[in-house]
Amino acid sequence: MDFDYDLFVIGGGSGGVRAARVAAGGAGAKVALAEESRYGGTCVIRGCVPKKLMVFASEFAPMVEDGRAYGWDIRENGLDWGQFRGKLEAELDRLEGVYRKLLAGSGVETFDQRARLADPHTVELADGTRKTARHILLATGGRPLRPEMENAALGITSDDIFHLDRLPRSILIVGGGYIACEFACILNGMGVEVTQYYRGAQILRGFDDEARGLISEEMRQNGVDLHIGTNIIGMEEADGGVRVKATNGTERVFEKVMFATGRVPNTDDLGLSGLGVDLGRRGEVLVDAYSQSSVPSIYAIGDVTDRLNLTPVAIREGMAFVETVFRGNPTPVDHDRVATAIFTQPEMGTVGLSEEAAAEQGPIEVYCTSFRPMRTAFAGRPDRVLMKLVVCADTRRVLGCHIVAPGAGEMIQLAAVAVKLGATKEQFDQTVAVHPTVSEELVTMRDPVRKV
Ligand code: NDP
Repeated sequence: MDFDYDLFVIGGGSGGVRAARVAAGGAGAKVALAEESRYGGTCVIRGCVPKKLMVFASEFAPMVEDGRAYGWDIRENGLDWGQFRGKLEAELDRLEGVYRKLLAGSGVETFDQRARLADPHTVELADGTRKTARHILLATGGRPLRPEMENAALGITSDDIFHLDRLPRSILIVGGGYIACEFACILNGMGVEVTQYYRGAQILRGFDDEARGLISEEMRQNGVDLHIGTNIIGMEEADGGVRVKATNGTERVFEKVMFATGRVPNTDDLGLSGLGVDLGRRGEVLVDAYSQSSVPSIYAIGDVTDRLNLTPVAIREGMAFVETVFRGNPTPVDHDRVATAIFTQPEMGTVGLSEEAAAEQGPIEVYCTSFRPMRTAFAGRPDRVLMKLVVCADTRRVLGCHIVAPGAGEMIQLAAVAVKLGATKEQFDQTVAVHPTVSEELVTMRDPVRKV
């Protein structure tokens, strides 16, 4: 049977664009891609990239303070949000242009409209046009989810935060995951009065307990009013913002409320259920190790599959899909020991198992140190950092590495190479320290702080 295309990709985010480009440019396939919104997807337009630029913008306040402590004569008048936002928007426009150019340069035909599936080989565009393809790749990503409650629409989500006309005086952030904690720190750094409610016992559930503990301590110390074991139970419009009732018995007005209560895969109205594409409990497309769905011509990558919702993982999944389907080289995606960074202040970088997860698998040794780093200690700040290695007592392999420190995201990328290669504690120790640095502690921790 003749098809219009070898591959039709739905979704122009990091994963979809990479798969389309590599299939067309590298593997010589005839490829089309449909995107209803902006090219670049969550990561480039309303996620990692603008978030990281906001992190940078928010970090200048403590830097200015430190500068003064080091003897610089600096005056500070606060952040001009309007100026920053203008530059941010220009940068996102530039990046979107780059994505479009990359697609065009690889020979991918693009359709700037919503697409849904009509049958296992047919895509129907919003204008009614139908296109057939031998393979269809779903890369539609995810979206923020508000809790089901009356007036939930009064709360904004991370999608809205980049578009605020001005910074609010106060904000309540609901949630304790990556997004909640990152934006609590960013907005606090920008001078907003930040309150955070998290329903559980400690923020950043799933990460190493000791690291979570230090981050929450530092966040509080930096001025975030963090309430754990607290959730929102009602909200209504009020003079000056939103009146919020909480499980801790309080009733307070915040100028803005932001829900960072998780994300869901974008599978609504894609025509999937009628075709027999199996979906999971949260609506995610269920796929095998090669990203193939229950319908053989339909594949899915990235957040729409809800495996490991990180940009570089979606890109890897896209590359592995092309390798498997267009290069005849079946390539499963390796989701093991993927390093990640949480851009809180201080940052956390982590790879491998937490102490708690590792201890469930067998005997371990824990090497850990927490101290005041030279740069900020000299400026008189009480900030602490944490370096931690979780080591298998039998094989001596480093099972997990957790860093809470400024620049932890950069550090963990390098430590992850060793952990991924299966390095032992002794091999870490054979590496001579780089002095004076914060990360030298990773190769100088002689004795375990505990054996579990
Ligand atoms: P998460 O799933 O990480 O966190 C959601 C948070 O909201 C949890 O603390 C959860 O609590 C809480 N929550 C869920 N439902 C409710 C509710 N009804 N009422 C109150 N609280 C609720 O989602 P995020 O949105 O923070 O992030 C989504 C994903 O995006 C991340 O898992 C990550 O994969 C990715 N991401 C990665 C980043 C990075 O690499 N730096 C940055 C941002 C996002 P509980 O713990 O009790 O379930």
